[in-house]
Amino acid sequence: MTLLNEILSFNQKFVSEKQYEEFTTTKFPDKKIVILTCMDARLFELLPKAMNFKNGDVKIVKSAGAVINHPFGGIMRSLLVAVYELHAEEIYIIGHYDCGMSAIQPEEMLQKMVDRGISHDTINMLNYSGVELNEWLRGFEDVHESVRHSVDMVKNHPLMVKGFPVHGLVIDPATGRLDMVKEN
Ligand SMILES: [Zn+2]
Repeated sequence: MTLLNEILSFNQKFVSEKQYEEFTTTKFPDKKIVILTCMDARLFELLPKAMNFKNGDVKIVKSAGAVINHPFGGIMRSLLVAVYELHAEEIYIIGHYDCGMSAIQPEEMLQKMVDRGISHDTINMLNYSGVELNEWLRGFEDVHESVRHSVDMVKNHPLMVKGFPVHGLVIDPATGRLDMVKEN
């Protein structure tokens, strides 16, 4: 049983009653900003509201922990597209306190995969092919340190505009308070 049917029947009503009208905007952000933040459900409405953003204001890229785990992966590519194609003039990397990614234990997560039917052979094969699953799945211990690392990665990326403004912040998922991450 999934939520799909419920979602689709709500969606028909949403469209036929033109509830979309209050969200009408363009693909170019009204405030020339792109945000990278965590997929945590508590931030879904809180983060934009706490920063005074409404629909159409900003680009938001999300990943578990607001982590960019590869300099040439999809997250970094999204940030570059925002900068070069969608008129973003500032990047905000916003981690949060009490993040699920700070508690991820790769060994335990691999065990959960085994429990749900992934074979040890598959895991061993990936490890032997150089994927290094433990590293790939690893979270972080200190969110400030993690955000600082991401800011450095974006600022120093070979394809990023030199001197581009990249800000690091941490948000409180209960109150929406933003703390600046100190530069090194
Ligand atoms: Zn998180």
